Amino acid sequence: MSRTIGSILEAALGPLVVTEPQSLEPYGRDESSLGAFPPEAVVRPTTPEEIRIVLRLCAEHRVPVTPRGAGTGKSGGALPVHGGVVLSTDQMQKIYEIDEANRLAVVEPGVITGALQQQVEEAGLFYPPDPASLDTCSLGGNVAENAGGPRAYRYGVTREYVLGLEVALMAGDRLVLGRRSPKGVSGYDLTALMVGSEGTLAVVDRITLRLLPKPRATAAAIAAFDDLAAAGRAVIAMTRSGLQPAVLELLDGASVDHVRQGSAYRFPEGAGGVLLLELDGDPERLEAELAACAEVCEACGAMDVRLATDEAQRRRLWEARRRVSEALEAAHLHKTSDDIAVPVGEMPDTATRIAEIGERHHLLTAVFGHAGDGNLHVNLLSDDDDAEDVARRFEAARVDLFHHTLHVGGTLSGEHGIGLSKRKFMILEHAPQELEMMRAIKKLWDPLNLLNPGKLLPDPY
Ligand SMILES: Cc1cc2nc3c(=O)[nH]c(=O)nc-3n(C[C@H](O)[C@H](O)[C@H](O)COP(=O)(O)OP(=O)(O)OC[C@H]3O[C@@H](n4cnc5c(N)ncnc54)[C@H](O)[C@@H]3O)c2cc1C
Repeated sequence: MSRTIGSILEAALGPLVVTEPQSLEPYGRDESSLGAFPPEAVVRPTTPEEIRIVLRLCAEHRVPVTPRGAGTGKSGGALPVHGGVVLSTDQMQKIYEIDEANRLAVVEPGVITGALQQQVEEAGLFYPPDPASLDTCSLGGNVAENAGGPRAYRYGVTREYVLGLEVALMAGDRLVLGRRSPKGVSGYDLTALMVGSEGTLAVVDRITLRLLPKPRATAAAIAAFDDLAAAGRAVIAMTRSGLQPAVLELLDGASVDHVRQGSAYRFPEGAGGVLLLELDGDPERLEAELAACAEVCEACGAMDVRLATDEAQRRRLWEARRRVSEALEAAHLHKTSDDIAVPVGEMPDTATRIAEIGERHHLLTAVFGHAGDGNLHVNLLSDDDDAEDVARRFEAARVDLFHHTLHVGGTLSGEHGIGLSKRKFMILEHAPQELEMMRAIKKLWDPLNLLNPGKLLPDPY
């Protein structure tokens, strides 16, 4: 009888290998709601050398490998759709160094993002990328997805902070990419290529991250408008005025209505669009800047503006924003969510188009997201019983949404990645030659198509 990949890996790595069906089950899911794909085995390495052993053995036996961080991905990137082995980095949580003089950190990929932020801040430094999942997601997953978050508006996404990576290739080789210096323009930027490659090119086993000085103070404000388009116009006005909040978040009326109850901030009746903004920097200048932001919102017709200058007030303003996604999930039978990004100037029109798309397909919609950089989380909702019919309408509405998004110069995903959920739509955004170029890159790094197959790239036609 031929040996299973589980027994082959067990012979090499012993207790790091999981094969009992019950224990495998959680590794077949993530936060994408795309279903369950249990792997044949899970390996939880503790060192880069063990990662190389897994990859080498799987390549030798032609078994697919799906890298996995903390499994919080929203696009199905960590789902082992072709079975095989899940390589989980959840045991690799060492922070090797926080170098204050050079303002950098070196970490293992399984480190939870919030844990690094906390340690870095204790040293008076700052790691800005702040996905809303920061208490549960891993830095390896953030690198693979090029994760963003509310602060991306001012500070950029994960890519801006990755100085260097050490990665393992499917053939078992290890590459050291990038540098520790803040600057560097030597050759093709393979570090940048790895960021956002969704675990399809190599497995990240060590990450060097750039850090910033910690801002001395933070303040927040909330502004409510009649409708989403008015809130969108305030975002454009804010951008034009030269004001640069660290965070500029948006909720539409449907989102507000789902979190209104129990919210510390009393949303005005009829609020159809809400902006939540946060500023950071020198305490001496913060209050004046906050007042200037409030003025812009008022000039754009805000019906209510509240300022929060202390930490407790700030947390209260954020609380409703943090609850939106789960409140929508809890309130409806069916929900799908897409994180499109459009140029900021296109947001007011996009808001109108999303409402039209919902009406056309008889679906409810709720929109929230990172307004400062045009990254909207568009939720399609339905309470109809016929699940198949709802799924068909969701799909048709998504196609309309993507067509609009691309027509105005946007993109399929601002931060959650393509993974499984959007790979078939890649042909809408990328020309055949561009996709061929991507396929050629994939082939160079992973000639046997064993590393996270069935993700990111559409099937060849
Ligand atoms: C409530 C909630 C809020 C969220 N908010 C945000 C947000 O604000 N911004 C945002 O960007 N995302 C957000 N996300 C999505 C998700 O948290 C991010 O995509 C995150 O970066 C995934 O990290 P992870 O460790 O969970 O990765 P996983 O889900 O385990 O994996 C994601 C991808 O990374 C690959 N991967 C993981 N580790 C490695 C590695 N070491 N080497 C190579 N490839 C690897 C996997 O193969 C997969 O393709 C949110 C998710 C939830 C559930």
